[in-house]
Amino acid sequence: MPANTERTAQGRYLTGGLDEKRFQRVFDVIQKQQAANRRNAKRTLTSSALTKKTAADLAKLGSKENGEPFTKDDLKRFEQERNSHKKRFNAKTTGITYHQLVSGSREIDIKRANNQSDDGRGITKANLSGIRANTVLIRVKASSKSVHENHLVKIRLDEWDDLLNDPPAGNYKQAVKEACRGRISIDCDCGRHQYWYRYLATMGNYCVAPPKEFSYPKIRNPELKGVACKHVLKAAVMLQSVAWHGVLARQMEVQASKIGYADDRKSKHVLTASELKEASKNRSTKINSAKVQAEYRKYKKAQAGLAKKLTSGKKEIEKLRKQANKIRKQANTIKKKDQELTKMRDMLRMSFTMFHDMRVAGGSTKADSIKAFAKKMNVSESKLKQVLK
Ligand SMILES: [Zn+2]
Repeated sequence: MPANTERTAQGRYLTGGLDEKRFQRVFDVIQKQQAANRRNAKRTLTSSALTKKTAADLAKLGSKENGEPFTKDDLKRFEQERNSHKKRFNAKTTGITYHQLVSGSREIDIKRANNQSDDGRGITKANLSGIRANTVLIRVKASSKSVHENHLVKIRLDEWDDLLNDPPAGNYKQAVKEACRGRISIDCDCGRHQYWYRYLATMGNYCVAPPKEFSYPKIRNPELKGVACKHVLKAAVMLQSVAWHGVLARQMEVQASKIGYADDRKSKHVLTASELKEASKNRSTKINSAKVQAEYRKYKKAQAGLAKKLTSGKKEIEKLRKQANKIRKQANTIKKKDQELTKMRDMLRMSFTMFHDMRVAGGSTKADSIKAFAKKMNVSESKLKQVLK
């Protein structure tokens, strides 16, 4: 075993006394063991069984909570739930914002994250443990009821690379602040995340992988409700604090000035004792759900307003384009008329010159010729004079 993996009689890991480096290594082992357990799972609703919906596959699924067998209609409903979840969290873009994370979460998970639940499952403590490239590792103390001592939450800051390369006004602290509020992806080793939320995170494209989960949570969370467990919620709200931004900003700067591949093993950083002390001064420890939801509504409203503005802007542009076309057509007609007039004037001048030349021999003056030519062409003398000017 590469790390201290002491376990209790129930087979749980003792992670309380470990320093950050050992702590992170133990969780690498835990992740491998969970993956092995996962492969042995029974009655799993795989992606292909959900797609094909054969009677043989249905028979292997066991029964619903009410004891009845799963039907084809159940699977059709699951597919609909999955598709609307993908749409709601815009699966084409990696990550979801902090606002989306909180707004979409179940009230009970938020209460437990804030230690405001009365079921003994509230949690109280978390601290930064390390960073691997753009993924932040957070050690979260388990609830008093839990058999575990700690959980390891992984939050990938999906806008980190962009902000690292172009920090606002050259300020890495501001860059980190924006990265923590921006799109993030999540993972936690706890059962809640594994059995309720990992499938949602995978389908919504906001999971830190591996591990990905393709099997539908048909018993635990068939309606695909909620987003994050209390540990992820706690870690996410604490990521909004200046105390953590300071530590992370220094790592962003280190990565920004580093030679070598951006995500190689040297991009791993384990917090030092003094950094742990600095990070423990975090004051952003409770989620203000009402405030976050109000901000999220405001954001969505602004987005809707922007979309409306864009649509009306498009209409305005179309109107202007039509007007411009009309004016251009009119201008073309005027230009054409102008050209015809010029042509007529030139012809008149030429004819008059010939007319006058013939009369000069007979002793006619120019004034005489104009008078005679005007009569011949049936125009007034003054108009003819204007043309000949
Ligand atoms: Zn968790």
